[in-house]
Formats: sequence, C-alpha cells, structure tokens
Amino acid sequence: MLGELNEWLQSSRSLEELFDMVARFMTHILPDAEGSVYVYSNSRDVLEGCASWNGGAHKDHIHPEECWGLRRGRTYEYGASEIDFVCEHAEPHDGRNYYCFPILAHGETVGLMHLRSAADKSDEFKTSRKLAQMCAEQISMAIANVQMRDQLHDQSVRDPLTGLFNRRHMSETLRKLINASQNTGKNLSVIAVDVDHFKKFNDNHGHDAGDMVLRAVGAVMEQACDGDDVACRPGGEEFTLIVSGHSQEDVITKAELLRQSVEAVVVRYGEKSLPCITISLGVAHYPAHGSMPQDLLRASDDALYEAKAKGRNQVCIASGAAPEPRHPEEKSSCTEAPSSASPHAA
Ligand code: GH3
Ligand code: MG
Ligand code: MG
Repeated sequence: MLGELNEWLQSSRSLEELFDMVARFMTHILPDAEGSVYVYSNSRDVLEGCASWNGGAHKDHIHPEECWGLRRGRTYEYGASEIDFVCEHAEPHDGRNYYCFPILAHGETVGLMHLRSAADKSDEFKTSRKLAQMCAEQISMAIANVQMRDQLHDQSVRDPLTGLFNRRHMSETLRKLINASQNTGKNLSVIAVDVDHFKKFNDNHGHDAGDMVLRAVGAVMEQACDGDDVACRPGGEEFTLIVSGHSQEDVITKAELLRQSVEAVVVRYGEKSLPCITISLGVAHYPAHGSMPQDLLRASDDALYEAKAKGRNQVCIASGAAPEPRHPEEKSSCTEAPSSASPHAA
C-alpha cells in the first residue's frame, strides 16, 4: 500500500488532489490513527490545515511555536516518556498518544503530519511509528514536488516585477476567453494601458524609482479586477486588462476609474514622494473590433495611441465602438481628463 500511495502521489497534479489521496490511503494504512496535515503558508508564519482523516480534525491554521515537533525539528511522540508536554495545536487533549511528524523535503520543513491514537487503540498505535514515519516521508516528497511544479508554472506565466500575468499568458487567456464568448455570448473587452512619458520619468528619477511606480500601477490593475478579469503586464510600461462579463459602458467606466486611480497614486521613494504619473488607455470590444486575439489587441493599441496623440492621460475607444459615436463622422470617442489633472500632457 505504501508503494501504491507513492505511485498515486507522484501523479497528483494539485495539492488538493494530493491531500485527498493522502486521506484515503492513510485511513487504510494506519486504521488506528486519526490524522491531519498542515502545510506552511507562502509567508511561512503559519501552517494551514489542509486535510484530516479517520475521525481526525484540523484547525484552519496553527503557528509553528504551537508544535513541539516543529520547534525541535524532529518527530515528537506524546505518551512515550514519563514527562510529556502537550502541543498547543493538539488542545483540547484527552491524554491519548500522538505523533507530530515535521514533514521535510530538500532540507526544508514543508509542514506537519499529526497522528493521534484512535480511542482504545493505544497499543496498536504505539507499534505504528515506523510505518507512520515512512508515510510522512513519502507525503513530504510529494508535497514538495507539487509545490515546485506550481512555482515553476507561476514563474512561466507571471511577470516577476508586478506579479501580473505575462504576455504569453495574456495571449493564451484571451484566446480561451474569445472561444468562451463565442459559445456563451458573454461580453469581452480589452483595455490597453501605457504609462505616459515614462522614459523621462526614468531619466529624472532613476530606474529603481521607475520600477516602484510600475509595481504601483500593477497593484492598481490588480485591484481593478473583479470576477473573471485578468490583469497582465505584456512588457515594459505597458499593461493590459482583459475584462469579461461587463457591458461596454461598464468597461469604459472601469478604464476611466483606472486612469483616475493611477493618477492618484503616491509612491514613496526613500525620503520623498515621487511625482504623480498618468496613463493612457485604449479600449476594444469583442467582436466589434476583432474576433482574433491579435486583432483585438491591435485595436486596443490603436485606440491607446490615439489617446497618446490627443494629449495622454485619457481613455480612447477603438473605431466603430458602441456606444455610438456622438457624430456620424467621428470614428472614435475619448474621455479626456481635466487639463489641470494632466501634469504630463504634451
Ligand atoms: P509615451 O507617453 O509616448 O508612452 O512615452 P514613454 O516615454 O512612456 O514611451 P517610450 O516607449 O519612449 O519609453 C518607455 C520607457 O519605459 C523606456 C524604458 O526606459 C521604460 N521601461 C520599460 N520597461 C521598464 C522597466 O521594467 N522598468 C523601468 N524602470 N522602466 C522601464
Ligand atoms: Mg510603451
Ligand atoms: Mg509610455
């Protein structure tokens, strides 16, 4: 069974799937033990309860100081010595024997497996330590593998500076969302964003300050996301928001709010605050402005360049967009910022 467990764990694709397998196998391998598993959160200050089985229960999260196993860096067995101390995370405790196995992989503690003797099974439980240890080791490697795969996947789809999705993921997502829209009729739009006069900003304040500003713009983009929206940084000082399931009017309002939010951002750099920056935005809707990812992106880019040409710090909508242009000869519409709020306007 241990061999089988290992084989299944190696082929699991997510932690969720993995813990499901762990729970089912552990109930069979160690029927006299109630169990639970905790895994360190990304911030590493707490461990999150992930699974429990055979009558065991897990808390939402525990702190590493609450476990003698984690504090001492090795398996802790309660009930084996004359003097024992109960781990805080094991409270309320009724005197039953238990084990805390720190789960380790590649020299790092990944989490904790907690096993407690089932009622009236303490003799059987005590003889199971070695087997339990072997299970913990296999589970450790499997968790580390899934985490590493998740990390690699994240690195391949995310931009390291802002944490937003990169160009590759943006194109892929857009292609999938276009397919979905084709089938369901769900609204889909693209907002292209470019920071105004950013070369000058870098020249004046340095590349590091520029990076901080890009991170701040990234955070605004992220906050603007709701539902199925996807915020991306395809490159440089350019961003894209893919908006799904909103009316064209709502998308334009969203773009305008985005413009206002970026303008209001204050970035601290050392002792001082950096000057405000502004963005120009171009909006394109599917299918009015394109039914292929590249066409839709090009349409939003064209609208963006129009916003640049019209003085920056404003939103332009791609040609032929709804709502209807105000004049029949007018090919696109722009929502312009008040000139006083446009420090960089050319
Ligand atoms: P415009 O308003 O027409 O967009 O002017 P701009 O100066 O923003 O446009 P341009 O394309 O001439 O310059 C973009 C600048 O963005 C040039 C480059 O130094 C800066 N940039 C691109 N990527 C990064 C980055 O990752 N970090 C920093 N700090 N700057 C970047
Ligand atoms: Mg640019
Ligand atoms: Mg720019």
